[in-house]
Amino acid sequence: MKKHIAVLAGDGIGPEITDAAIAVMNKIGEKYGHEFEFEHLLMGVCAIEKTGEPLPQYTIDRCLASDSVLLGAVGGAVGDKRIESLPGHLRPEAGLLKIRSALGLYSNLRPAKLFPALAGACPLRKDIAEKGIDLVVVRELIGGIYFGERGRGVGEGGEFAYDTEKYSVEEVTRIAKIAFELARKRRHHVTSIDKANVLESSRLWREVVHNVAKDYPDVELTDMLVDNTAMQLVKNPAQFDVVLTSNIFGDILSDEAAMITGSIGMLASSSLGATKRGLYEPIHGSAPDIAGKDLANPIATILSAAMMLRDSFDMIKEAEDVENAVNEVLNAGYRTADIMSEGKTQVKGSEMTKLILERI
Ligand code: NAD
Repeated sequence: MKKHIAVLAGDGIGPEITDAAIAVMNKIGEKYGHEFEFEHLLMGVCAIEKTGEPLPQYTIDRCLASDSVLLGAVGGAVGDKRIESLPGHLRPEAGLLKIRSALGLYSNLRPAKLFPALAGACPLRKDIAEKGIDLVVVRELIGGIYFGERGRGVGEGGEFAYDTEKYSVEEVTRIAKIAFELARKRRHHVTSIDKANVLESSRLWREVVHNVAKDYPDVELTDMLVDNTAMQLVKNPAQFDVVLTSNIFGDILSDEAAMITGSIGMLASSSLGATKRGLYEPIHGSAPDIAGKDLANPIATILSAAMMLRDSFDMIKEAEDVENAVNEVLNAGYRTADIMSEGKTQVKGSEMTKLILERI
């Protein structure tokens, strides 16, 4: 099979980790007789420096012409005045929101899994960690308060600002379907997150999710308030299989879910819309503090490439091959600095990639 992949390496450690994922995909291509063609495009600080905007139209057009998109990370160092003084729509993060919306990617899937070999890195109590963590946050990505009407004005109390949370039946239906379909491939349980005791938009969310659930009698549905979910994720994460959320709730909860697994450098994510073309990226940022030092853990990006193989290209065996190689390297005791623990062998980012390539 021949596939054309747009690569948005981005900033900081972005180029190092996308290079690692490309090497892995090329190895898979050789082994299984596929041809992967990679086209490098600008987004983030690197795009601002060359073109004055975080996401040039050319990048959008080429992504739309691709079979799928691999993203590293975007963003400058905290305190970089040159970037931080830019208006909101010209900041690197604006590029991220824009590419998701331009590609119509309304669902963001963020698996949070505790790798048995890394159980020691889990910050939760041992008895809680031992029950296991294996959940996926399905987050609505192009609606809600991040895209709602916003503004500022002056009223009786002086200056004010507002942002609006708004969801339509259609928006909730399509994301709920993604969650129920995914639950069917997993442990048949969806927990839908809302704040229906306070927000009208959440009450609509809950109604719609229950309507969708009627088509999935084999999947159990639980409603949970967002504040309780934040607590349950640290108290008993084993109860969760698929966690269905709005844009803002998912933004917060998926970071929490990631942290309880112990390492931000291990977790992949995918964003999908109505077509097979997805955007695949690690959940971490551009880590400017370790950029260029060969310290970045490439596993999250390599596992994102595995998600692309499975979800966009239906290459199931190939995806499993990558995931097994990662597991084998961890079981053999190799660790990058971020996941290092006593008695293990510390390796550089590039060595980790090499070890994974050897096992494919
Ligand atoms: P970050 O995820 O970049 O880094 C947080 C910490 O985790 C740092 O100590 C970093 O060294 C470490 N880390 C992250 N990825 C790692 C990896 N693969 N291997 C080893 N260690 C790793 O978050 P931050 O420091 O808050 O943000 C830095 C920049 O990234 C900011 O400009 C922010 O806006 C941007 N950002 C981008 C994305 C994205 O592109 N999707 C997401 C989050 C943050």
